[in-house]
Amino acid sequence: MKTLLLPSGSAIPVLGQGTWYMGEDPAQKKREIDALRLGMDLGMSLIDTAEMYADGGAEEIVGKAIQGRRADVFLVSKVYPHNADRRGMQAACERSLRRLGTDYLDLYLLHWRGSLPLAATLEAFESLKNAGKIRDFGVSNFDRNDMLEASALPGGDQIAANQVLYNLMRRGPEWDLLPWCRKHAVPVMAYSPLESSAAGQRRLLSNPHLKVIARRHDASPAQIALAWLLRQEHVVAIPKAVDPAHVRENRASLDIVLTAEDLVELDQAFAPPLRSTPLDMR
Ligand code: NAP
Repeated sequence: MKTLLLPSGSAIPVLGQGTWYMGEDPAQKKREIDALRLGMDLGMSLIDTAEMYADGGAEEIVGKAIQGRRADVFLVSKVYPHNADRRGMQAACERSLRRLGTDYLDLYLLHWRGSLPLAATLEAFESLKNAGKIRDFGVSNFDRNDMLEASALPGGDQIAANQVLYNLMRRGPEWDLLPWCRKHAVPVMAYSPLESSAAGQRRLLSNPHLKVIARRHDASPAQIALAWLLRQEHVVAIPKAVDPAHVRENRASLDIVLTAEDLVELDQAFAPPLRSTPLDMR
């Protein structure tokens, strides 16, 4: 699997697996574990989860999926903003580690910016890093101004990634966030790369231009949407899939090479931003 280097020098796979909505329904547990294991077998060793997902239920699913293969996995979890100071984060991280059945995270992210001071969050991250509980830390749903502010604080130069909503229909981050992150070598993790809501996903995947390009590559529209993200420097994509056919498709999207003509057509169908817009989030 292709990787990017984090500022710390650790390698992060460019294509991973999301877990939002996993762990909600006990009847789906086996399918979810099997899907994550299939993804790992295919090389998608980055798994993204959060204490928020199913109130820890998704972390438990991940814990089962990675049992016996922790060393092969790049594990990402996220802390609630209200737990993001020294005391709260230490306890939250311990709970996550217990559910995940491991003693360290590869990357721990602040899920979104809350009301606790960023300085306290960075201090808490550094303390967990020094204790060996996490290898790297980062943020999520931070716009360029948030990045500027955070990176100027003590420990801010260690921010290893920013996870944001980014896909063909949500190109706002291209205006100033992606350039900033590229300049500072901070990878952007594109969440909801296929749109998480059923309505949004229908709108994206039924786009006639996307369908034409997909046919040209003998691929699905979802694969083209992922290939478009994955062709970019400093971008990681983390689609969530439980259907094994989706898992296989997502892995194969990495091998699709979009042509200059494809890219022009995609820009016509999904216009890049012409001004700064607030970061989308959900
Ligand atoms: P997503 O991965 O873009 O879309 C998930 C949906 O797409 C599921 O319904 C899945 O169906 C379907 N799907 C997956 N592969 C497909 C394919 N090849 N063809 C057609 N449909 C496909 O949305 P997401 O789950 O919102 O985002 C991905 C991950 O990002 C999350 O799971 C989570 O880990 C992370 N995330 C982070 C934040 C944040 O605030 N930091 C917010 C949202 C999400 P099946 O499951 O049935 O296969």
